[in-house]
Amino acid sequence: MVSSKLLESVQFLPGIGPLRAKLLAKLGVYRAVDLLFFFPRSYEEVPPLESSDAFSDNTRVSFIGTVQELDERVTQSGKHMLGCLVIADGGSAVRLVWFNQPFRKSDLRSGLRLVATGVLRSTGLHWEMTQPQITVIDGDESPAPQKPLPVYSLTEGLKQSATRNMMRLSVPALAGLVEEVLPEAVRERLDVPPVDIALRDIHLPHCLDDALRAQRRFKTQELLVLQLAIAMQRSQREQSAKSPRCEPTGKIHARILSRLRFTLTGDQQNAIADIGRDMAAEVPMNRLLQGDVGSGKTVVAQYAMLLCVAHGFQAALMAPTEVLARQHADTLERSLASSRVRVALLIGSMPRRQRQEIIDQLAAGEIDLVVGTQALLAEDVEFRSLGLVIVDEQHKFGVMQRAQLRTEFSQPHYLVLSATPIPRTIAMTVFGDLDVSTIRQKPPGRSAVHTYVASPPSLDSWWKFVDDQLKLGRQAYVIAPRVSAADGSEIASAEGIHQQLSGGPFSRRHVGLLHGRLTSEEKEAVLGDFARGDVEVLVATTVVEVGIDVPNATVMTILDANLLGLSQLHQLRGRISRGSHPGFVCAIASAGCDGTDNKRLQAFEKSDDGFELAEMDLQMRGPGDLLGTSQSGLPALRIANLVEDASLLELARDVAGEILEDDPSLSHPVLQKLLKQTRTRYGKAMQLSDVG
Ligand code: ADP
Ligand code: MG
Repeated sequence: MVSSKLLESVQFLPGIGPLRAKLLAKLGVYRAVDLLFFFPRSYEEVPPLESSDAFSDNTRVSFIGTVQELDERVTQSGKHMLGCLVIADGGSAVRLVWFNQPFRKSDLRSGLRLVATGVLRSTGLHWEMTQPQITVIDGDESPAPQKPLPVYSLTEGLKQSATRNMMRLSVPALAGLVEEVLPEAVRERLDVPPVDIALRDIHLPHCLDDALRAQRRFKTQELLVLQLAIAMQRSQREQSAKSPRCEPTGKIHARILSRLRFTLTGDQQNAIADIGRDMAAEVPMNRLLQGDVGSGKTVVAQYAMLLCVAHGFQAALMAPTEVLARQHADTLERSLASSRVRVALLIGSMPRRQRQEIIDQLAAGEIDLVVGTQALLAEDVEFRSLGLVIVDEQHKFGVMQRAQLRTEFSQPHYLVLSATPIPRTIAMTVFGDLDVSTIRQKPPGRSAVHTYVASPPSLDSWWKFVDDQLKLGRQAYVIAPRVSAADGSEIASAEGIHQQLSGGPFSRRHVGLLHGRLTSEEKEAVLGDFARGDVEVLVATTVVEVGIDVPNATVMTILDANLLGLSQLHQLRGRISRGSHPGFVCAIASAGCDGTDNKRLQAFEKSDDGFELAEMDLQMRGPGDLLGTSQSGLPALRIANLVEDASLLELARDVAGEILEDDPSLSHPVLQKLLKQTRTRYGKAMQLSDVG
């Protein structure tokens, strides 16, 4: 039972009242329990005691001294001012000054010893310290160790000192009323203090170590609850849903491989083995296949689809754009031309009659493989026997928006392809219910890509270099962040650059234009021309980011590159590492942005490893900003941080695994509170059922 005291309004706690209660409400603090769990953002460490010989101007110090005399007056602006002259140990005079704190006078008298902490300023005559923190020392006693000060998020009208004071007055009495959720054995395994001690130490720490241990307690608890929820969701899914068994027998396996145009890399083989194992079982596959751009995820997806079709079930492949969907459909049709596998494309821009025909055939089971866009999710699209859903470049859709394809019978197996490598901590949380296969090796015969970061003045000589590549028979991409020029903006537009290049540096070349505002036919026409080599320079917005495959294109210019994210830049670069010729990419920083000073562009220039770049992106941008987390539909973490707390996350995952292995439904009485917390926090977001 939660103590009713914890549920009372903060208004009635000492030192709060209706006015401050209103301010606290702005911070999400309504009840006493909210105040307890309103944790400091950080701690201000109190500097070690200093003798006055070592004082210097404008530094924060703590020192011991003896009160000499007091004075008080009202300033011109009407403030009360209290002065207190102190002789510091070491001999220097320091005047302490407080504004509007007349009550301090009663604590101070001549001869008193105290510790003062604050920023020193020299007036020429003596040192001065405004609004210092002070602690009075009794007699000859040596001062107590300096305590770190919690730093809270504030709102206008609420001061740091007032917030600290509220905590001082309330936390000791309230902390003991909070019920412990973590059983002792779990606390020991996590190496964290009990909840009452942790609550006291997080607000009123005696030393920084105590504060950090307390933080660790709440971080690991938060992560443990998340990991338990993920594991429960997973076992729930595995128990309830049934998928068709599609075993990769020796014969089927050999037949599929014989259709592929090349020998698979070791990583591709491993991924295929993972998928084969998953699909042979009745438990639905739920797998993420991640690999850098150009690492060869498509054949792996193709293997999965053919495995499904070999067992008489339908497979659907969903791509984020029509361009990509068409490209996948073409690839599949080409490699399956001599087989009995029936492939179809379903996209939004199709004529209605044609669309209806395909829908009818899907429902009748006359199509084996369908490739499409989100058009596949339409209400009237039904399958006769859907066995597998593959989503390419999933992050474009939002992570949790799983493809809800309609099928009469059991649940399809599910495979997600991602070219944005997912940092470990994100894989363990946002994607926590997915198994992961990773392709790190590049297919053989790939040449390196050379990356340069430059500024606009270098463009003239760069265009000459690009032209030299064109003379060698290669093709080039030029990427601009926007479609058309906006008033007053200097940001490069595809339309503007297209005009500029075809009128200037590439006036004798065939320059094409591709962006999201073209119709589907126009896009296809340009892409076709580029693929055939008729267009030599393709000016495009970032639409080419996702999966266009033209091996002869080896040069890329990215304008205003500093406006793009690190993984986006890397995705773009992937477009020119597809062939056997060396690739060249030049990232041009906006005028006024120093590329050599831009962390992202520097990382882009230095590393060609998507996994490394994804980790760096996470470090630089923080997890909140990362694609996926904000769209994940999961409640935000309150205290743990996926960048800083990676090791706690792993610990939490291990411990969650151990708990569930012992007690899969968390039925043991000591686990009831933990179970309840998990349900309260994630039950809705993760659709956890009530039975454990
Ligand atoms: P992505 O992982 O970006 O989707 P793709 O599947 O499009 O990469 O593969 C990139 C290119 O590499 C394609 O042209 C594909 O035909 C080729 N490829 C894939 N696997 C191999 C392999 N094992 N050997 C040779 N080429 C391969
Ligand atoms: Mg791809």
